[in-house]
Amino acid sequence: MPTLLEELSRVKTYDYTTEDVREFEALHVEIRALKAQRNAVIVAHNYYRPEILKVADFVGDSLELALMASRVKDADVICFCGVHFMAETAKILNPTRTVLLPNLLAGCQLADSAPAEDLAARIEELKKQYPDLAVVSYVNTTAAVKALSDVICTSANAAKVVRSLPNRNILFVPDRNLASHAAEQVPEKNIIPWDGFCYVHQQITPEEISRIREADPGIEILVHPECRPDVARLADAVLSTSGMVRYAKERSAKRFLVVTECGLSDRLAMEVPDKQFVKGCKLCTFMKVTSLEDVRDSLEKMQYEIEVPEDIRIPAERALHRMFEVTEGKPGKTNC
Ligand code: SF4
Repeated sequence: MPTLLEELSRVKTYDYTTEDVREFEALHVEIRALKAQRNAVIVAHNYYRPEILKVADFVGDSLELALMASRVKDADVICFCGVHFMAETAKILNPTRTVLLPNLLAGCQLADSAPAEDLAARIEELKKQYPDLAVVSYVNTTAAVKALSDVICTSANAAKVVRSLPNRNILFVPDRNLASHAAEQVPEKNIIPWDGFCYVHQQITPEEISRIREADPGIEILVHPECRPDVARLADAVLSTSGMVRYAKERSAKRFLVVTECGLSDRLAMEVPDKQFVKGCKLCTFMKVTSLEDVRDSLEKMQYEIEVPEDIRIPAERALHRMFEVTEGKPGKTNC
């Protein structure tokens, strides 16, 4: 088993010192004790800091974390190391558990680009033109937006969810790049995109990717669908973050360019040490704002508890369950 120092020394985003790693180890001991005391489970998104991923019970992408949250049965508390909309999703799916977000600054610019009031007005306007309009919302939306949606999707299943609908006209909220990716795969639908984008993925340009490919023609390029369409077109595979993890582990290729938020390359560097992951990534300040100390304080002080009012939670849960019916079957029952 590699030591924490050995694993973290493979990470390129941060320059960890031996002293940092010693502090992380001490905090891990505190966090594990608090976790037992609170009967808590810690789940973390792939983009989180590596020292937090190492103390989490489960690490995954938005779809996996939503499924995981829905299946928590024996734990009383879900400490959600993700951003605000993800913790809300956990609460929507598992309302009898206490859901904690360790740092309230962990928001999401993409989710904020679609306020519920603006969406309600847009739906009303579009329904006059397209009476069969269905609303598909990416999981990166607030609970109030999910409540206005017919069905939710993630980056892993957007095309499958869109294809499953009987409606031809679809308002796709809020990511225009993911909407474009879904439209390419399901050309029989009229997809009307909301004009939102993730500032992290939007910064990545085709010129940057082409430069790396020219210098290293054998490299496999993995691109997240929140990237611009002209970047996605240069990819060997367009995948969600956990899709990238599986792909990189299974392929015989030894070098990959990972085009998404930098946390994913860090996770891959720790988990797949025999392969090389070149970074074509940008940092998300929202995903990096939470520290290991915040996770410790969250469990110690039971902060910050996420609540979703029932009049929003129930329709939002319905939209999430429709996604599960299309993609994964109904959320199952496992313990964690
Ligand atoms: S990477 Fe983009 S979509 Fe994900 S949390 Fe950050 S701002 Fe939101």
